[in-house]
Amino acid sequence: MERANILGCGVDLVSMEQAVTLIEKMVESGRPHQVITLNAEIIYQAREDADLQRIINHADLVTPDGIGVVWAAGYLGYRSAGRVTGIDLLEQIGAKAAELGWKVYLLGSAPGVAEAAGKALQNRYPGLKVVGTHHGYFKNEDLPALLDEIKELGPDLLCAALGAPGQEIWISRYKEQLGVPVMIGVGGSLDVIGGFKQRAPELFIKLNLEWFYRLVSEPSRLKRQMVLPRFAGRVLREKHRKRS
Ligand code: UDP
Repeated sequence: MERANILGCGVDLVSMEQAVTLIEKMVESGRPHQVITLNAEIIYQAREDADLQRIINHADLVTPDGIGVVWAAGYLGYRSAGRVTGIDLLEQIGAKAAELGWKVYLLGSAPGVAEAAGKALQNRYPGLKVVGTHHGYFKNEDLPALLDEIKELGPDLLCAALGAPGQEIWISRYKEQLGVPVMIGVGGSLDVIGGFKQRAPELFIKLNLEWFYRLVSEPSRLKRQMVLPRFAGRVLREKHRKRS
């Protein structure tokens, strides 16, 4: 498995199949692991946030989520990799979890969303064990009870939809304490799986224009996406620097 260095962040250039196999091994090991699906916005943010960069570089698996990361890896001379997005990974792991009897906990999004996403996944993958759900707007004082609940339920897999990079920071902070074998940040995936938001049509995904669809359907993302040209500029300069 090749780990690319993109502006200081390690990204594993894995296929979806390889990612699922690695996650299967993590569950089998029983020890806690963190999986990150990384996009260009977060890489750009991590340049000025040493803690975030450390969290990314300590994660057990970091997949290229988003066409910006895939482009940067190719441009910097790594072999081309496909996207392994949070939502696609969650669906693939859902199938695996149902097949192998893993216990799944869904944390995050607005009240009711994680339950709906859990039911939708169970409809799609009969037999899937969703052992618990909790919304993502808990107060600090509710945290100890939430951590106790997760520990007691002992899931094999916890999907955190708390927004990036908050979910990555949260997982890194509680990973050892919770001891869940695989904890993965899934961003807005529960909203889509639960039927509260729509993913881009297949054609947009195929043409690598999913970012554009999200921008048009959620104009509030404009500020976040403004970093993408700056990310690209940094990558261009990085290659130039390496050459000279
Ligand atoms: N979210 C949450 N708690 C928070 C902030 C966000 O549960 O304190 C949820 C939000 O409801 C949404 C998800 O995190 O379902 C992902 O948010 P975002 O739009 O940032 O998604 P991303 O770009 O990371 O996919």
